[in-house]
Amino acid sequence: MCCICSLDIEDLLEVVHIRRWSDNPYNGLNPSNCILLCVLHHKALDKGLIKIEINKVYCIEKVMMSASDSVKEYLLRFHDKRIGNQQLALNKQSRT
Ligand SMILES: [Zn+2]
Repeated sequence: MCCICSLDIEDLLEVVHIRRWSDNPYNGLNPSNCILLCVLHHKALDKGLIKIEINKVYCIEKVMMSASDSVKEYLLRFHDKRIGNQQLALNKQSRT
């Protein structure tokens, strides 16, 4: 299940590094740096439209400038949302 929007279609979920592996290679294998996200939220994170800090989702100003109204509205719906335990999400995925 996506930790942000709760989408639960397995084919649309991906394990994502919160902090990019390229920014800190030692953090790449750190399980606490991984989270399960849907493909939309994964791309939004990779493209800098959202960020995740201290288990909260933040929409970046870039969303307001670059996204269509419907995408902007969807992403803003989760702004300031507290997300659940990342490790639990990964454990759920590995059991399926
Ligand atoms: Zn999502």
